[in-house]
Amino acid sequence: MGGQARRRAERSEALTTGPASGLDTRGSESIHSRAVGLMPGGVNSPVRAMGAIGREHPIYIERGEGFELIDVDGHRYVDWVCSWGPLILGHAHPRVVDAVSDAAERGTSYGAPTEAEVELAADVCRRIPSVEMLRLVNSGTEATMSAVRLARAATGRDVIVKFAGGYHGHVDGLLVDAGSGLATQGLPGSPGVTTAAAKDTIVLPWNRPEPLAAALESYEVAAVICEPIAANMGVVEPEEGFLDRLREWTRAAGALLIFDEVITGFRVSRGGAQAAYAVEPDLTIMGKVLGGGLPLAAYGGRRRLMERVAPAGDVYQAGTLSGNPLAVAAGTATLAELDADAYERLRKLTTLLASSLRDAAGSRPVHVASVPGLVTPFFSGAPVHDFAGASDCDLDRYGAFCRALLDRGIYPPASQFEAWFVSLAHDEAAIERTASAAAEAFEVAFAA
Ligand code: PMP
Repeated sequence: MGGQARRRAERSEALTTGPASGLDTRGSESIHSRAVGLMPGGVNSPVRAMGAIGREHPIYIERGEGFELIDVDGHRYVDWVCSWGPLILGHAHPRVVDAVSDAAERGTSYGAPTEAEVELAADVCRRIPSVEMLRLVNSGTEATMSAVRLARAATGRDVIVKFAGGYHGHVDGLLVDAGSGLATQGLPGSPGVTTAAAKDTIVLPWNRPEPLAAALESYEVAAVICEPIAANMGVVEPEEGFLDRLREWTRAAGALLIFDEVITGFRVSRGGAQAAYAVEPDLTIMGKVLGGGLPLAAYGGRRRLMERVAPAGDVYQAGTLSGNPLAVAAGTATLAELDADAYERLRKLTTLLASSLRDAAGSRPVHVASVPGLVTPFFSGAPVHDFAGASDCDLDRYGAFCRALLDRGIYPPASQFEAWFVSLAHDEAAIERTASAAAEAFEVAFAA
């Protein structure tokens, strides 16, 4: 049986999720009982474990099709995680699958340069004018780690400023969250992060200009790193003028501005958040959409800065699989689909999802935040402007809401502090399915 026919047959065998009675996920449960003995928490990245929404085991996935995930027990879900952002075209987009298969037939890695990397680099530079030169790497973590090293080398300074609730990968010096208030010296955010690694990180509250001004005055800051639209505390937009101040004040202080656009890049607009807000950083971190679902990320910026990176310059950074031909093929095929019409459609779908969730929530204390491609229903009576506000949300109710959604065939991010990812595979029917499940799920969550 050919691939397509087999997939069709499998699809017709798949059960659909039934009404609101709780899922029979015995297949997932049984795999998980093996997994926990073999991998920490049974997973390869913590949020997948679903503990934050009060589930004892995650749902094991058998395959994805467009906007749907199909689990090992045959249940279908409308997927609002989309691999946490990379799948802006949805699962198994035929052009991406073809590009990856074609690349694989020619070899999976060479450890030598290819023309495809050059084409992808040129495409990124066309989309993001502040990026004149870039280096491809394998993960967002690797990209931020390398950008921070470059910023320190370029400025001859050590201190990095980040914002509470901002996530930039599990880089030691950035796994620091000293909480809000005025500028505070960083304390390790995880055992294993040394005091030495944390001591050069300053954590400030998002969206508050005064502590930023104070920190830039008090310390010799190498760089300020931020998600220009915060998306790892749920979606929290920068307040009017905040990014402009960041730009102006870092420049005046001789510090670099690093935008971590791992989530927002190629998503909120063709040129990312920096185009949406017309603020140009010195360095940009990219990932997720850039790799179209394969491991690919990048850091880039002005030529003068990037030429400090080896072998053009003296700042060392390298990678066996960097610019891997499969990942480059997936990324190139993904970006090729992202034209003006695609962004317009993504914007409309996002607005529809956000308004449908608002309608479903009714008068309950829920605030739905959204920017194109990203949505967060905050279980909060007030709009959320920073990490303190996000932390005040009713996490138990968010958990109950998510569990009830899963029972109804909707797969939400298993944490209040994450965005829901809209893809171009989603459609009005998927949103309608989500809205009617959400109406019931809000009822369940608020009945408790
Ligand atoms: N930066 C941001 C803004 C992210 O959201 C993430 C991952 N969610 C990272 C960096 C780290 O990327 P990766 O998981 O690929 O290391």
